[in-house]
Amino acid sequence: MSDVVIGLEVHCQLDTRTKLFCPCSTDYRDDGPNTHVCPVCLGLPGTMPATNRAAIEYALKVAKAFHCTIPEECEFSRKNYFYPDLPKGYQITQYDRPLALGGYIEIEGEEGGEKRVRLTRIHVEEDPGRLVHKGNVDRGRYSLVDYNRSGVPLIEIVTEPDMCSPKEARRLLAQLRATLEYLGVYDSEKEGSLRVDANISIRGHERAEVKNISSYRGVEKALTFEITRQRSLIRRGATIERETRHFVEARGTTTSSRSKVEEHDYRYFPEPDLPPLRVAGWVDAIALPELPAARRERFVAQYSLSLNHARTLTGDLRLAAFYEEVAGDDPALAATWVADTLLGELNYRDRTVATVDPARFRALLALVRAGTITDRSGIEVLRAVLDGDEEPKAVVDRLGLAATGDDGVAVAIAEAIAEFPQAVADYRAGKASAINYLAGQVMKKTRGRADPRELGRLLAEALEE
Ligand code: ZN
Ligand code: MN
Repeated sequence: MSDVVIGLEVHCQLDTRTKLFCPCSTDYRDDGPNTHVCPVCLGLPGTMPATNRAAIEYALKVAKAFHCTIPEECEFSRKNYFYPDLPKGYQITQYDRPLALGGYIEIEGEEGGEKRVRLTRIHVEEDPGRLVHKGNVDRGRYSLVDYNRSGVPLIEIVTEPDMCSPKEARRLLAQLRATLEYLGVYDSEKEGSLRVDANISIRGHERAEVKNISSYRGVEKALTFEITRQRSLIRRGATIERETRHFVEARGTTTSSRSKVEEHDYRYFPEPDLPPLRVAGWVDAIALPELPAARRERFVAQYSLSLNHARTLTGDLRLAAFYEEVAGDDPALAATWVADTLLGELNYRDRTVATVDPARFRALLALVRAGTITDRSGIEVLRAVLDGDEEPKAVVDRLGLAATGDDGVAVAIAEAIAEFPQAVADYRAGKASAINYLAGQVMKKTRGRADPRELGRLLAEALEE
């Protein structure tokens, strides 16, 4: 049993067309600062918020997908604090009457099998603006503020401290991201659409809260660093203080926030400009699409995939769709090529499957399946297709990768036997593995175009003579 205790608070931007309380567009990333603003999201006096129904429906979808209890009524509250990115001096959020309570997210547990991470609550709130620091945060002369983000709808998902390793935290976030994207309420590729606060402690000691981690990879790194830091303090007999820490992405470390955590008094009170929100009638009308777990089971049943392949392929909405587009007549071959080969090549290039043309990938699979090229040449073709702008067939012709007929292979075998008499002698003396050495030489001579299964048989035959 691990003695590590991890809980997460995750903020995700809901991918609505307009902001939570005004009609400004949320599509602000390619535009100049302060171009998607109005009196409401600038917090000018005398303005009134009006709730975006789509944002509430999106949040209800999430709550339903994670098996939460959804009260008939929820309510917005004001969270009062002063910060330049918050022009009203308060954030409209939910406090004691959130949209959803309880529920759980299912992940693959560290010790195998499915594990349920319980949720405390899910609530809806508005995103603050964004500060742009000129130079170093501490020493820069000034900061600029951009209110384009101000008022974009967020859901905040709070988990119970049910995770016991950074890996489980990563899996939870992956499952969360996948589900939200399947629901069509979130776009993980939009910069800044995710922010995570992580609570982490070693059982029996105080916990640290690592604030504002903004990437999926960052969460695992920050937590791994914290475990090492906390364990080394405990080993030295020091006490771990309850504190807020910041993740330094570039170094993969966390640092103590200079000020000690004071318990903030946010003076929450119900938002007087918005009546309580009655959602009872909406919830039943919300239909959920096929979610990752269901699609995983379908992939196993429909395409006879291994659980591992099905898990990988359904772990991302775009990848699952891509796979179904290329599965064709040989879903097993396609699964291996997508989950094992393509994903590796994409990760290496820091690219997503969205950048791959399914028609070209299908053409590549057809060449492999027909035996026109070997698996090994197929990888070479795939790399050329990913890095250039060519059809697979054109790559095969240009690089001369078509699998050689028996003649070319026979010549290479004869050469290898003549050139490596020691290996031949070893093989004939009963050292069976010597044949692998000769096969490697033949592969070299044919530049990988010999069919490996055939090659073993042909070599053995030639060595009999
Ligand atoms: Zn606005
Ligand atoms: Mn929040």
